[in-house]
Parts: sequence; structure tokens; C-alpha cells
Amino acid sequence: MIEQQMLIGGQSVGATGGATFERRNPLDGQVATRAPAATADDARAAIDAAAKAFPAWAAMGPGERRGLLMKAAAALEAKGEAFAAAMAAETGSSGIWAGFNVHLAADMFLEAASLTTQISGQVIPSNVPGSLAMAVRQPAGVVVGIAPWNAPIILAVRAIATPLACGNTVVLKGSELCPATHGLIIEALQEGGLPPGVVNFVTNAPADAGTVVEAMIAHPAVRRVNFTGSTRVGRIIGQTAAKYLKPAILELGGKAPFLVLDDADVDAAVAGATFGAFANSGQICMSTERIIVDEKVADEFIAKLVARATSLPLGDPRQGPVVLGSVVDQTTVTRVNALIDDALAKGAKLLCGGKADNTLMPATLLDHVTSAMDIFYEETFAPVKAIVRVKNVQEAIAIANDNEFGLSAAVYGRDTARAWQVAARIESGICHINGPTVHDEAQMPFGGVKSSGYGHFGGQAGIDAFTDTRWITMQTTPRHYPF
Ligand code: NAD
Repeated sequence: MIEQQMLIGGQSVGATGGATFERRNPLDGQVATRAPAATADDARAAIDAAAKAFPAWAAMGPGERRGLLMKAAAALEAKGEAFAAAMAAETGSSGIWAGFNVHLAADMFLEAASLTTQISGQVIPSNVPGSLAMAVRQPAGVVVGIAPWNAPIILAVRAIATPLACGNTVVLKGSELCPATHGLIIEALQEGGLPPGVVNFVTNAPADAGTVVEAMIAHPAVRRVNFTGSTRVGRIIGQTAAKYLKPAILELGGKAPFLVLDDADVDAAVAGATFGAFANSGQICMSTERIIVDEKVADEFIAKLVARATSLPLGDPRQGPVVLGSVVDQTTVTRVNALIDDALAKGAKLLCGGKADNTLMPATLLDHVTSAMDIFYEETFAPVKAIVRVKNVQEAIAIANDNEFGLSAAVYGRDTARAWQVAARIESGICHINGPTVHDEAQMPFGGVKSSGYGHFGGQAGIDAFTDTRWITMQTTPRHYPF
């Protein structure tokens, strides 16, 4: 069991009054972590610490900031085993998923390091004679980052790396489901030598999330909020941010469509669907959720997909390597079992897997899914996937877009010009042609549309998000006035 602490102004601290909460392993119910249950005052203290550290951090030269972020990347990468153990204990996820998280998150710190010297402005021709007019990007201030448990290292690092590169200071609010995993990231940043207060870390009991988050957003020093999580909570955060006029980036739920056109390379599509649907047991915002296959290739594609799905090793990741570990909690099992019951009652056909009685959920495929079934629209966030057969490309696009969400999508077809035209018509922030729906790289503009949220992390888009653009002029000759 890990005793986690918060980090405020460079000090490891508990909550005021000493309250804590526990995170238990989803498989055996053992306490994995005990962490501080922050109060609203603790949250405000963390923002105060970040505000105090802001002027010096914002004034630091980009080369020095770059060096610190590179050291953080190395320190993070060196913690691979500790991360794998914490993730298996807190969320039941596989070693493969932990390794991928560590690798991509380290890359996010390196990419952020490289951005420190790329924060450029603009000289704009002025109509006023002698006026030198510039658009200048400056650090915004304190950034609040709120990250979930499902890709815990990637999403928490994403919440803080580019903000730091841009000269902001940060408060990370850890997930109640993986406080120790998020805590290891903070440790890596400290080992990298970040000055006190530049990064702060707050953990809270689940029941206090609303109070703690509002206390942070309301604080006058906070200038940006970023949130990755469910659409339900994203709406609350968006409303709270609007109330205090704080710009927010919201990266929310998904229901990624995966289109197999009649000319697809079936084996390539099967490989992409298997990875996109079942990586981390389907608990990824970009997970393939709705497989839309042209009826001309459906039988061959589905037979091969079922063969792959049934061969994926499933088990407790603490006992050895698996592809499918535990899902995050029993609530997921109950919710998804109900989706399976609903689909079967309305005429879907179960191809493999099925309902689970514990958090080790098998790879499950349901064929002949229609829009009358709840699973057609609802994000499963589990290894349970819907297959919809369509007659042609038009119907495939219509089914892909009959979707509240719009984060990721994939199109498989050998006529890549036609596949490009299809991709252009899909309503999603991200779309891959002949590649899986699950794909993230530090330098890419990651973000969704519709109920998947708004704003982007990554590369230049991240600089736009986490700096203030200022218009500054310098009058270099005497100026003429009308009176
Ligand atoms: P969640 O929304 O339940 O929780 C996320 C965070 O919200 C937690 O830190 C929690 O403390 C906070 N929270 C809960 N109630 C709150 C309230 N009333 N006010 C303020 N904050 C509150 O999300 P989750 O279940 O942890 O994550 C899974 C969801 O995240 C899925 O829907 C998934 O698709 C989405 N997700 C999106 C992306 C993306 O980039 N778009 C990435 C990963 C996950």
C-alpha cells in the first residue's frame, strides 16, 4: 500500500485536518493507495504557491526551462517499473499499457522542451506612421490541469508539460482512482529539479471533487483550465470556467467509428480494429467503439476479427503479462452487462465474449447492432464493441456521423483518394486512413468536436492554448494627434 502525499510549494503535505481517502484494487479490493482528501483551502493554497512561483518561472530563459523538462523526461522514463506496479494496483491495467504510457509521456516532456524556443510572435504593419506593432505571446499565469485514470501518465503529463514550457506554473488535480500513479509524475518533475511551486499536486476524496475544482477555478490567479475526462463532468467544468471567465480546454468522451470500406485490405483492417478496440480493455477515449463494415467484406472481416479477439490473453496484470487486464471497477461491469442485455434483446448477435461477473471482462463483439440499441450511442469504455453492417460508403458515413461524439475515427480502403474523401466528411477532430483510431503523438493537434469537447493539446496548438497573445506597440517617431 502506498501512502501518497500532495505537493504544495515544494513541500510534501497531507490535507488540512489529516483527512484521507483510499483507492482499492479493482480485482481483490485490497487498499492500493491512501491519499490526502484536500479541502477547498488546500486547493487555494496550492494555487497561491503556483502564483508565487510564477514570476520567476515566467522570466526564466527558454534554454533553462528546456533543460529542466528534459531532465523530467529522463526521470519519468526511469520510473517504468514503479509506474507499472502503481497502475496494476490502482486501475488493474496491463504492463503493455503502462509501458506505452511511460514512453509517450516522456516524449511529451521532450516535445514540450523543444517548444520552449518556438514561442514566436508577429510584427504587424501599423497604419500609424512610426509605430512598430507586435503580437507577442506571454505566459498566461497559473494553469489548473485535471486528468483521469485511464491513460494516467499520458493525460496528466499532457495537462502540465506544454503549460510549463510556455512559462506557466501548474496545479495538477490527480484522479481519485490513481493518486499514486499521478504522484510518480510529480516525483519525476521534482527529481528533474523544478523550482518549488512551479508544479503542485492536489488529491481529493471523490465526494469533494466539485468543491475542490470550483475553489481552484474561482481563484483569481488561475488563467487557464484544462480537463480530460467524461462529457458529463466536462459540462460541469465548462460551466464553472464560464462563470469565472476562465478559458478551458475540454477533452471528453468518444465513440470512435471504424469504417471498413468494400476495397479495404481486410487483414490490415482486422489488425487495426483489434488494437483500437481492445488496447487497455477499450478504456481509451480514442478506442474503436463502433465498427462499421461494408456488407461485401463483412463476413471475412468479422470471422478474422473474432479469431483475433478470442486469442487475446486476459488476466490479473500482477500475475504476468496480459493484453486485457482488469477494467477499472465493478460499476463498469454492471453498466456494460446491461448494454449487452439490451442489444441481445433487440436482435444483436453475440460473436464472442459476453457478460462478465467480475472486472476481468473478455473481448466481446456484437454483430447486427442497430441504432435502436443503447450500445450504438453509448460509450462502453470497456472491451465490448458494436458491429454495424452497411450497404455502401454513403451509409457508412451516415452511421459514423450519427454520433453525439467526435474525437477519433478510422477509415480502411485501398482507394486512398476515396478514403480521404470519406475522412473529410466524418465529424471528428482526428481521423486516420488505414490506421487505428487509437493513435497519439506529442506533437499532433489532439482534440475533438461535438460532445468530445473543444480546444487542442500538442505542438503549436498547445502554445496557442497556454499563452496570452498581447498587442504591443512602440512609437518610434513623433505622433500626430487630431487635437
Ligand atoms: P470523470 O469525468 O468521471 O473524472 C475525471 C475528473 O473529474 C476526476 O479528476 C474527478 O475528480 C473530476 N470530477 C468528478 N466530478 C466532478 C465535479 N462535480 N466537478 C468537478 N470535477 C469533477 O472521467 P473518468 O471516468 O475518470 O475518465 C473517463 C472518461 O474520460 C471517458 O469518458 C473518456 O472518454 C474520457 N477521456 C477523454 C480523453 C480525451 O482526450 N478526449 C482522454 C481520456 C479519457
